[in-house]
Amino acid sequence: MKIFHGIAVSPGIAIGKTVILHTEDFAIPRLDIKEDNVLKEIARFEDSLTLTRSDILKVRKKISQEMGYEHSEIFNAHLLILEDRTLIEDVIAMIRQEKVAADYAFVTVLRRYFQAFHQIEDSYLKERISDIKDVGRRILGQMVDSPEVTIHDLKEKSIVVAHDLAPSDTASMKRDRVLGFVTEIGGPTSHTAIMARSLEIPAVVGIQGITREIINGQSTIIDGIHGLVIVSPDEATVEKFKLEQKRYYEYTKELDKLRDLPAETLDGKKVELSANIELPEELSSVISHGAEGIGLYRTEYFYMNRVGLPTEDEQYKAYQEVAGKMAPQSVIVRTLDLGGDKFASTLDVPKEMNPFLGWRAIRFCLERTDIFKAQLRAILRASTNGNLKIMYPMVSNIDELKQANQILEEVKGELRSEKIKFDEKIPVGVMIEIPSAALTSDILAKEADFFSIGTNDLIQYSIAVDRINEKIAYLYEPSHPAILKLIQMTIENAHANQIWVGTCGEMCSNPALALLLIGLEIDEISASPLIIPTIKKMIRSIKITDAKAIAEEAFKLESSGKIREFLNAELKKLVPDFDEAS
Ligand code: PEP
Ligand code: MG
Repeated sequence: MKIFHGIAVSPGIAIGKTVILHTEDFAIPRLDIKEDNVLKEIARFEDSLTLTRSDILKVRKKISQEMGYEHSEIFNAHLLILEDRTLIEDVIAMIRQEKVAADYAFVTVLRRYFQAFHQIEDSYLKERISDIKDVGRRILGQMVDSPEVTIHDLKEKSIVVAHDLAPSDTASMKRDRVLGFVTEIGGPTSHTAIMARSLEIPAVVGIQGITREIINGQSTIIDGIHGLVIVSPDEATVEKFKLEQKRYYEYTKELDKLRDLPAETLDGKKVELSANIELPEELSSVISHGAEGIGLYRTEYFYMNRVGLPTEDEQYKAYQEVAGKMAPQSVIVRTLDLGGDKFASTLDVPKEMNPFLGWRAIRFCLERTDIFKAQLRAILRASTNGNLKIMYPMVSNIDELKQANQILEEVKGELRSEKIKFDEKIPVGVMIEIPSAALTSDILAKEADFFSIGTNDLIQYSIAVDRINEKIAYLYEPSHPAILKLIQMTIENAHANQIWVGTCGEMCSNPALALLLIGLEIDEISASPLIIPTIKKMIRSIKITDAKAIAEEAFKLESSGKIREFLNAELKKLVPDFDEAS
């Protein structure tokens, strides 16, 4: 029995046999061939290209029909790679000159490409590596005698173990055959994590080298609550986790009963409980978990994994679909927040020393008004189909907010002159995720209809701790007294100016920290759909008077560790049967 620790990104317990999908290193042994076989090997390589091409066309069609054209765009990039003459000619030349098997020649040339791409500074080209790998695996799958298993030909229910999962893998897999995911790379906001959560598949990511530690068909347990992967568990461990699985299932079933009940404290304080989404496909999960709206619709995904920019119409369709499905509940569309760790495939954003502090989000949009205006037009046009709100990310001062609003007014004017209808009173909010914004929230509140505190970034910028750097992750503390003060100040300034204030960072997924936020009188909490029932249970088990007293006490403590301990202990006192599994 071996236990591995990773990052828990999607809750639940999975017990089953593993299937290892393609390993990262394209390990194909060298096979020398006779001169007579050269043409045969070249033909084998060319056939694999043809077969891969028809394979991709089929997947593209399927995805386009099932998920919409925009999601199939990625495959256009894949087709381009398939037609790359230099790559094809290099492989053929190697087969001829070195007299090696086609699959070996292909992976050798491919590896040279990876090396060359790794050295390139351009982030767009860097991102292409994963596309080349994706296509490379398909081509190889067509060439090798016993093609590697892919996620779409799983024969039985399996735990999928992979270096990483490509969008084309998760898009084409059979949901009922996948018990859970384990990957070597990724974090809570990686594509696999987001997909796993929205499909409600237990997942643990970030276990380096796991594909070399597991063999196909090995019995394995995934604990997506605590981030554990147990390979070849003994009888007793399997029994323990079967019980745990049952308990978790019953726990979530119990929570499901709260679905249609309000998120209201025992003494009648109502908290708006909404969901964060990245993709429209997550809506079913949002609705089934009883969210009261979308508190954060991250729109960056439109711009990633694709060739070219999304058109206004494409965005309009997505926004109006989400608005329509959620109506009359509200949907807060956050305008493009590119930069930091989220890069667009197409945009030529120069590499920076400090990308999180750089030309990104609203700063980028205020300069690239063509892109910003197209998005604003799409949101405004979609606003007639439901209850949409606009929210700007990374605002650091009042001038940026005024400038963004000025552009919004221009876009409204254009629509009016084109006689296109939109919600004239569409509310416009500001994310408070930079300390300067929190500290000047009294000023910003005068120009905004609402605030949403983005704690993910607020913590990063206030404590000067890179949110994706594992080495300093211990410093990333939502309960730091400085964070509490900035949040309190923002809430007070919002209320003093008669606007509502919510929070949409990961901090509010933790019930003890959510208790503190409620004690500080936050009006709305927006979290991943899966977390919503847990937070609702907490809210329905406490009194606002207790939460306020707890928040007051927390402010007297000197460190994040003490505050965390205190909040956990208080939560346990108020909700003794509270299950940490969430
Ligand atoms: C945040 O910063 O808290 C937030 C919700 O936005 P993102 O995680 O997309 O930066
Ligand atoms: Mg942010």
